Amino acid sequence: MSLNSAPPRTSLLLRLALTISVLCTLQSARAEWIEHVEDGIMGTRIVVELWSDDEAKGNQAVQAVLDEMRHVDAAMSTYKPTSELSLVNAQAAKKPVPVSQELFDLLQTSIEYSKLTGGAFDITYASVGFMYDFRQRVRPDEGQIQGALPGINYRHLILDPKARTVKFAREGVRVDLGGIGKGHAVDRGIEVLLRRGVKHALVTAGGDSRIIGDRFGHPWVIGIRHPDRKDEVLSRIPLEDAALSTSGDYERYFDENGVRYHHIIDPKTGHSASKVRSATIIGPTATRTDGLSKTAFVLGPERAIEIYNQLEDIDAILVAPDGRVMYTKGLEPAKP
Ligand code: ADP
Ligand code: MG
Repeated sequence: MSLNSAPPRTSLLLRLALTISVLCTLQSARAEWIEHVEDGIMGTRIVVELWSDDEAKGNQAVQAVLDEMRHVDAAMSTYKPTSELSLVNAQAAKKPVPVSQELFDLLQTSIEYSKLTGGAFDITYASVGFMYDFRQRVRPDEGQIQGALPGINYRHLILDPKARTVKFAREGVRVDLGGIGKGHAVDRGIEVLLRRGVKHALVTAGGDSRIIGDRFGHPWVIGIRHPDRKDEVLSRIPLEDAALSTSGDYERYFDENGVRYHHIIDPKTGHSASKVRSATIIGPTATRTDGLSKTAFVLGPERAIEIYNQLEDIDAILVAPDGRVMYTKGLEPAKP
């Protein structure tokens, strides 16, 4: 059974960076699972699965997760001109902008991931990134990139915890939480379920997932897909009580004259970062795995694995441009 089965549109199918397949043989337990797929929140596919002995309560819990995700989307989308984040982008170069505690905390967390990854993760990537439209095959020319590049630097973000405001240090800075917002939304959804006493569940938003518990004594088994052949599984990993995020250059992209332009941007150059084809990160929360899954594209597999290996709660599986699958030390297959 595929948890991500039958997306209605091919583009959505391609967006899924991994295929999660449950190799559970307890077919009799299936009837007690509630499975819900919702398209469109945060521009992506949301999957909520949970076990509940009371169907009505289970369905209410699913709706509560979706409401939480709609709330995150309304606050943090840069596609919505009225979102808190859009107001920050519109005003923060001129004055400190007061924000909610939730947005303030996520901005602060984003800066922590910038520091942890040597600037590879940087939400100010959007100072250049906003000029790309991968669906419309639109990209900035070199002059536009060079003109906007000085706006990229997480150090341009000035957060004042007392006043709970955010200010940009200069003109031309934009932020976008596309690289961490879905992980955050998944964690908020999981917290909703934990508060309701749910013991077995999966919440997915795009490439970011988190699992509570196991699936009746069996781990959830996730498959890492081949970057070009979506039905081909390169590696299978059993998981319980964990989060994982996959980023891939096949999710949102266009090819032009043999070059792939895709949605992960190198903050130093303003160009797509292509040092791996995909990166799957496993860790305790989806905010954390999401915040770390862009790094390998920017820094390359060797440097990224060094960083991941220093983080005790993180594992990673990377697919290099030549197709090699590389693992952090916790996952390396045993040598014969
Ligand atoms: P998903 O949208 O499935 O969660 P990813 O986790 O791979 O996919 O996030 C990709 C998004 O991250 C891009 O669409 C963009 O919004 C954002 N992004 C791109 N480059 C960077 C970067 N260097 N640092 C932080 N965020 C980035
Ligand atoms: Mg993500």
